[in-house]
Amino acid sequence: MATNPSLTSSWLDEFPARIAELDRAHLRRRRRVVLPESGARLQVDGQSMLAFCSNDYLGLAHHPALIEAACMGARSFGVGATASPLVSGHSAANDTLEQALAGFTGLPRALYFYAGYATNIGIIPALVGSGDAIFSDNLNHACLIDGARLSRAQIHRFAHADLGALETALAQSPAQRKLVISDTVFSMDGDLADVPALLALCERHDALLLLDDAHGFGVLGPQGRGCLAHFALTGARASPRVLYMATLGKAAGVAGAFVAGSDAIVEWLLQKTRSYIYATAAPALLASALRASLQLIEHDEWRREHLQQLIQRLRQGLATGLRGSHWQLGPSLTPIQPLLIGRNDEALAVMEGLRERGLWVPAIRPPTVPEGTARLRIALSAAHTDADVDQLVQALTELAAACQPTVAIG
Ligand SMILES: *Cc1c(COP(=O)(O)O)cnc(C)c1O
Repeated sequence: MATNPSLTSSWLDEFPARIAELDRAHLRRRRRVVLPESGARLQVDGQSMLAFCSNDYLGLAHHPALIEAACMGARSFGVGATASPLVSGHSAANDTLEQALAGFTGLPRALYFYAGYATNIGIIPALVGSGDAIFSDNLNHACLIDGARLSRAQIHRFAHADLGALETALAQSPAQRKLVISDTVFSMDGDLADVPALLALCERHDALLLLDDAHGFGVLGPQGRGCLAHFALTGARASPRVLYMATLGKAAGVAGAFVAGSDAIVEWLLQKTRSYIYATAAPALLASALRASLQLIEHDEWRREHLQQLIQRLRQGLATGLRGSHWQLGPSLTPIQPLLIGRNDEALAVMEGLRERGLWVPAIRPPTVPEGTARLRIALSAAHTDADVDQLVQALTELAAACQPTVAIG
């Protein structure tokens, strides 16, 4: 192999030092090897743990009906889709699923993707480009941000939920095509975007509204139909200005994502989305499992009721348990319950304290969340029991008491 003798050092030798730098800043991420047990329990690196980190909000990922449907799908269609959708990968199962998703969300047409990340990084550049403008909430998910960057449109980021700032930016923009992008349930905070107000601004400024309902689909609205149903923006109040996107690997318990909206816009996306056109279609067995999942999402109201009751139980328990602590539970009514700790090392220490008690709650640090807002992201699921939540509240109460400097009152 030819080497350049004048090279005394190469940037390739810097990686160990760069990793050590992440370690020093408490920013090094680690994977754990997991095996599912029962309920919300997981074996993590060989140890049985009660997990509060799954996005399987309705507890469907291990449901026998989904497993059976996936097996049936594999028997009928094989395991791999063998080609991209516009070649020969668009199976009858995927086609039926798209119709079911459109019907379920009450929108004219849906396009089914293999992943949510790929959906957002693909559809945004298909909608807008150089000379156009994107308006993006500061706390949007990474794939909305990356999709915006890939589009080469001008990006205006507005402070989280600051609709006044959004309105000003929309009014000042000379761009002919304007696209507003927002999470509906913010993934690290659990709070809900004011979708009707966003839509009203889009109407006023002739903008298209792309909503990412990754954490709302299956959870929000009557029968889990998502954020549009939650805000009664379906049926006669549905707007052709809304492009609705949701993932199917969270509450739906399977994998993939879809985008739904007006016939013309969805047709355009089918023509122009590179991450759709140049990738192998999702396996049909997943579409089969997703059909079964949609049935359960629609009919098992008890899953959402149980989940809501767990959310209330956690919030009431921590309101008492964390009194006097600087740890703060964010104002969330969704299964994502952020416990703000502040410093990275403290958040990691709390996560470690929980781990020692057999509880797994992930610490989320910058750059995923803003500097100084390291937190535990508690995710609840219908797979949890009351006793599971009580165990977490008890452990956090003990850790908070041990962490806080005792302050004399009086
Ligand atoms: C998880 C998530 C995605 C990505 O979806 P995948 O199917 O996991 O690729 C997109 N947007 C938001 C808000 C998410 O939370």
